[in-house]
Amino acid sequence: MRQGPARGGARWPAAIGLLVAALVIAGAMLAADRYSTARAVADLDQRAASALPLAAAALAGEIGKQRVLPAALARDADVAALLARPDAESARRMGAKLRALAGEAGASVLYLIGTGGVTVAASNDDAPDSFVGSNYGFRTYFSAAMRDGTALQYALGTVSRRPGLYLSHRVDGPAGPLGVAVVKVELDAVEAGWRQSGYTVYTSDPHGLVLATSRPDWRFALLPSHTDEAAARDALQLDDTPLTPIPLAAARHGLVSGGGDPPALFAPASGTLGPEAPGWGITVLVPANTAIASASRTAVVAAFAIALGLVVVVAAILRRGSAVRRRQIALTEMNTELERRVEDRTAALSEANVALAGEIEHREAAEQRARRLRDELAQANRLSILGQIAAGVAHEINQPVAAIRAYADNAGQFLDAGRPESAAQNMGAIGRMADRIGEITATLRNFARRATSPPAAVAIEDAVDGAIALLAGRIRDSGVVIERVREAESPIVTASRIRLEQILVNLLQNALDAVKGRSDAWIRIAVASDAEGVRLRVADNGPGIASDVAETLFMPFVTTKETGLGLGLVISSEIARELGGALTLERQDGGGATFVLELKRAIDPASDAGGDRT
Ligand code: ADP
Repeated sequence: MRQGPARGGARWPAAIGLLVAALVIAGAMLAADRYSTARAVADLDQRAASALPLAAAALAGEIGKQRVLPAALARDADVAALLARPDAESARRMGAKLRALAGEAGASVLYLIGTGGVTVAASNDDAPDSFVGSNYGFRTYFSAAMRDGTALQYALGTVSRRPGLYLSHRVDGPAGPLGVAVVKVELDAVEAGWRQSGYTVYTSDPHGLVLATSRPDWRFALLPSHTDEAAARDALQLDDTPLTPIPLAAARHGLVSGGGDPPALFAPASGTLGPEAPGWGITVLVPANTAIASASRTAVVAAFAIALGLVVVVAAILRRGSAVRRRQIALTEMNTELERRVEDRTAALSEANVALAGEIEHREAAEQRARRLRDELAQANRLSILGQIAAGVAHEINQPVAAIRAYADNAGQFLDAGRPESAAQNMGAIGRMADRIGEITATLRNFARRATSPPAAVAIEDAVDGAIALLAGRIRDSGVVIERVREAESPIVTASRIRLEQILVNLLQNALDAVKGRSDAWIRIAVASDAEGVRLRVADNGPGIASDVAETLFMPFVTTKETGLGLGLVISSEIARELGGALTLERQDGGGATFVLELKRAIDPASDAGGDRT
């Protein structure tokens, strides 16, 4: 009942958890991307910075090497002589000499210009585009050298249209300048070297115009920092070809973008060429895309993995926590339920207990009542027996009392006659008579006593003797023959002797009643035993029991006698049951009735057989 809303409520935290996890992972990836990009850019910057001096040195070295040529020519006596007095033959010889020199030094063209600006001798004087005779007085490298002694100019060749670096040196004579020696260097080899490095390199003049570069298409492009396009064009003495801006733009992380999609990125490093080319700048661009992409990819993947791992671990910890909490709640609920059930069960049990106690009490009371009733019935039966045998007992006692009377009278006479020994014999007889009376009264008293002794080992024949003794007077008066059938030794049963006698008295009285008036009347008391138990049969030759009476024989108040109570057999069979035995009517054939009392043997048949009577 509590799980429904709890589960529904858990959806929100789960969604929020997912969102947080996604944000954490995305944040980690973004941070990793930024960090790795910054690291990669720093690395690229480092590479660009390292490449820059090498690229600059390649160019400066070439300039330095080539600069020597015009300087050396300026001091050459033949050069001075030729410029001072030019003649065709000397110029041709000088051309050959210059050709040899240019070939050795890897220069493009070596040539000498007179003070008027006209070329006097050139290493290419044998070529169709020979410089000889051309006037370069307008070239800055000429005018500046005439003025300053040396000059350097990057420009397109007027005839060849090939770009090159012009290095010039003034040739001085004793009377003043004689002209200018010039070397044109085409920087193809340097530019090719730059290209081979894998980096993009470009140089620029003070006006912001690209000069020598590893990207020929960028030559004469304008840098964003250029000052004045016209001034730049003038400085290079370019024609009217429109100048385009260099296709580079600033990009994030201090990189520059070369356009395209995705844009080609570069890490730039810029510097100056120094004294070899005053005012020139040089820039190295290190391609950045691959390095940045791979660094970023690695970092992002790593960050994703780590963040995911972290999220999983945190989620696991949180789940564990919530699982523990859920289990605790479940345990508490179970505990409460258990306590409730135990309480219910305890209550039910104590109710049942009370009910049981009540029932036990009830049953005990009922049993007590039944026991009391039984006792009272037994007592009533005994008193009734006493009533019936009282006449016989009186008769029994009368006889010894009369005898005592006679013995006492005789004893007086013996004493008077001086025969004390005869008197003493009479006294002895009186004593025995008194004992006999005592015995009879004791038997009656015992029988009448309500309380009985607990069951003990009883020799069954002793009980038979006791019962016959109680009925002795009546038996004698009736003249009935009592037959006894015994075993050699009386069987021992566990019983209360008085109870046993009560049963036997009941049976004998019924038998005496049944045979009353018959001349051949007899009653047989037969005891037989086997391993299982002891059987005592009381048989008579009376009229027997009618079958309708036989059916209700052991029910209370069933009697055919005028003064009968109808309790004798009921009580006797009850007592037999109490003793662990049974009293039954044996199937009768040929008249008379036979009752069988079955009893168990005593456990120890050797124990005391007669100790019940007091
Ligand atoms: P009561 O002797 O007071 O009638 P009992 O329970 O002893 O009560 O006997 C019940 C009846 O059983 C007697 O009234 C008698 O009719 C019958 N009865 C008992 N014993 C014998 C017997 N040996 N022969 C014939 N009838 C008997």
